[in-house]
Amino acid sequence: MGSLRAPIVLKFGGAALEDPARVVADLKTARMERAPVVVVASARERVTDLLADALRHPRSSARHRRALAEIRQRHPRLPPAGRRQLERLARLLEMLERTPRIDGPFSDRLLSQGERLAVHWLADVLRGEGLPACPVEADHLGLITDNSYGASCILFERSRGPVRTGLGRILRRGEIPVVTGYFGRSLEGRVATLGRGGSDYAAAGIGALLGASRVELVKRHVAVLSADPREVPEARPIAELSYEEAEEMAQFGARVLHPLTIEPARATGVVLRVRSLEDPRVVTTISPGRPERRNRALTLLRPLRLVRLRVAGGRQRPGIVAEVSRRLADARVNLVQLYTSSALLCLVLEPREVLTGLRALAPVTREAAAMVEGPFRVALVTAIGDGILDDLDRLPSGVVARAEGFSATPRALSLAVPESRGVGVLRELHRALVDGRTP
Ligand code: ASP
Ligand code: MG
Repeated sequence: MGSLRAPIVLKFGGAALEDPARVVADLKTARMERAPVVVVASARERVTDLLADALRHPRSSARHRRALAEIRQRHPRLPPAGRRQLERLARLLEMLERTPRIDGPFSDRLLSQGERLAVHWLADVLRGEGLPACPVEADHLGLITDNSYGASCILFERSRGPVRTGLGRILRRGEIPVVTGYFGRSLEGRVATLGRGGSDYAAAGIGALLGASRVELVKRHVAVLSADPREVPEARPIAELSYEEAEEMAQFGARVLHPLTIEPARATGVVLRVRSLEDPRVVTTISPGRPERRNRALTLLRPLRLVRLRVAGGRQRPGIVAEVSRRLADARVNLVQLYTSSALLCLVLEPREVLTGLRALAPVTREAAAMVEGPFRVALVTAIGDGILDDLDRLPSGVVARAEGFSATPRALSLAVPESRGVGVLRELHRALVDGRTP
């Protein structure tokens, strides 16, 4: 980046983009700091949902037409480059109807259109307000990912050169790059998305690559709360989090952050700020420092399935745990949690991976004469915060007694409970740990 000052990266989510006047004002304020500003944008609200819905109904041309009409209407007054993206979207939807087998690269190509439209639309709005914006599509820029379509990871070593050169050139002209979130270009040269909600991760990644002074994830209303307010109405904002706490929250299902967002920030020490566009007082700072106050947050992950393997001779069988996890990994089944006692191995899996998982384990269960019980419908309720084990004595006893298993580290304590009790347990733990009421 040569002589440039460390930039600030501002990422606007789909909901924040619903209020373009505020986005403009926000950017004007950021520019007063006299540091270069890079914008990362997600698709406008509902757009990625509509595209994902089209992929689930590949033959439904009526649905595709409705989706296209709504998407068009969400991007008024597109400049020519944006109109070309809209035409490309129309062609992709036609192809979808004819394609016999939809593969990952094709899906990701279609899903990426939302962000492409958003940056052309937004850059045009910003230019109309006197801000020198320049739309950038991340695959063309050279944000390189692996080939795991639908859930790919940014490859930092490969992306560093092209991202710094490409954005550096725009910044040196005094312009504001407006970069697509959510996707990059795979090693094979195809479009690869980073998973739903991946614009946060893209923004954190771009911030790390540029050596940004901070990355701000601008949401419309909220920052990071002690629980999802749709499930726990009393949830309250959290002012500061360590990288580790934020990472546990994202991994255990806090939907405000994509699970990989923290990693690039931590690796380079970039401060992340999650803040509300509407209320400047609502900010969560995520940084290396130990937060002063004691944080407690709760997450709920569901639906999940629990499978119990009752192994004759139990864990005394050398290598049984290793073999179970190796076989699952070979079948690309994600082992969400594993609880063991002497004779029981309890596996928590994603519902859609249960059948594959059981098939992969058949040789072990046969050979170890294991009995399989389940799958049972469960939810994972996790309490997060540095030093969470200090709070063990605050856990309502009934909750622990009825858990199917639990795991704990000094930072995250997670309980598998029957799915139907998930929200109830979440609220109970929130009362005990966040509201500070003893059980
Ligand atoms: N537009 C994508 C999604 O809705 C990425 C993002 O919003 O972060 O999942
Ligand atoms: Mg989105």
